[in-house]
Amino acid sequence: MQVELITIGDELLLGFTLDSNGAHLARELAAIGVSIARRTSVGDDGPAIGAAVREALARTGAVITTGGLGPTSDDLTKPSIAAVFGRGMRMDTEILEALRARWIAKGWGRELPKTNEQQALVPEGAAILTNRHGSAPGIWLEDDRGRWVAMLPGVPREMRGVFAEEVLPRVSARAAASASAAGASGSAPVVVSRTLRTTGIAESALADQITPIADQLGGLSLAYLPHWPGVDLRLTAHGLAADAARARLDAAETAVRASIGDYVYGTGADDLAEIVLNRCRDHGLAIAVAESCTGGLLGSRITAIPGSSHLFLGGVIAYSNEVKATHLGVGDDTLIKFGAVSEETAREMASGVRARYRADAAMAITGIAGPGGGTPEKPVGTVCVAVDVRGALTSAKRQMVGDREEVRQRSAQWALDLLWRRMAETAQVARP
Ligand code: ATP
Ligand code: MG
Repeated sequence: MQVELITIGDELLLGFTLDSNGAHLARELAAIGVSIARRTSVGDDGPAIGAAVREALARTGAVITTGGLGPTSDDLTKPSIAAVFGRGMRMDTEILEALRARWIAKGWGRELPKTNEQQALVPEGAAILTNRHGSAPGIWLEDDRGRWVAMLPGVPREMRGVFAEEVLPRVSARAAASASAAGASGSAPVVVSRTLRTTGIAESALADQITPIADQLGGLSLAYLPHWPGVDLRLTAHGLAADAARARLDAAETAVRASIGDYVYGTGADDLAEIVLNRCRDHGLAIAVAESCTGGLLGSRITAIPGSSHLFLGGVIAYSNEVKATHLGVGDDTLIKFGAVSEETAREMASGVRARYRADAAMAITGIAGPGGGTPEKPVGTVCVAVDVRGALTSAKRQMVGDREEVRQRSAQWALDLLWRRMAETAQVARP
């Protein structure tokens, strides 16, 4: 079964919005074995929307659109697509009442503005796709030949909700029906992926270790996805039944972990900050941070995790030498002899903040994020990180690549990585 996606909005064509809706829908549909034949983006332009939908229907008979369901004059999706189906528009009193009730419940006013009433206009003969995440409902429109269009809101959170609750069940049922009509035996083939997240190792070094075990991957495809948190490895099974795909992924994951497991901190969308916090909880460590070039980014990563207040005490943004000296106790002689960007300074920052906040463990970062400030001995991207766990100090120096933002992000991730590894070592030492 094949579907076409049409994402609607001038902002997509102008490049102000990246088409994350298209990406989400493509992944979700692949997981139930439905392939995307084509993805199109059109502007907020009635005739262009109508033409794109007409052509897509002619090719596949199955179309999903996102965007343009709102109440404003640039929201043209419903009437344009109704016209393709030769349908008029009608006011749906149930939706209108729901819109009124929501407007009042939210305290936005006592009366629903006339403009918003437009959201209750639906094509004749359409099914309503309930939106529990926002005001504009989605629309399902189908002709007597079984060709259909599902119209979803543009706002990503609402789009995801309406898709999962209202569209996915309908599309799965159709995919299953078309598979059995085609005489496929057993369960329908799916496309399933699994992601292993690594950090602290370059893409090429990972490949050097994984290439020799390629024959243990059971024919699954393997993608290397490098970005600032590290390199994600994505294994994908195509065209197998769900149970077989899972078994094949399990076996491949075991093989990959046996080869590079030291670098794997999580799976899927796991965040290293959360993994580190969990390990701190296991070890009973309260933590603090001292940050120079990351300016609070590390603290922000940690405090973004719900429940971090039980373990995270606080931190010092020590940007100037003066603050490093007065608030963290970094020695003037250290700063003069080794410089602000040095392992020696990072170590004193870590032990200084640990003592000041009576923490068990501390991370410290100092570096040159650029674009200015580099010297021949310490070029832009030079970063030093130190970790102090109950007085045991570890530090390292590295040359980061990337622009200012990337250097900052990579540095925060690296500090977390260093503490994560340090705790793993202590756990091994402590084991009887
Ligand atoms: P609203 O009721 O808010 O007007 P809508 O269904 O009319 O919703 P749009 O106006 O097209 O949707 O888009 C709303 C917001 O959703 C836009 O500001 C845009 O940033 C975001 N958005 C729209 N389409 C996409 C997309 N394909 N990918 C990611 N974000 C999108
Ligand atoms: Mg809109």
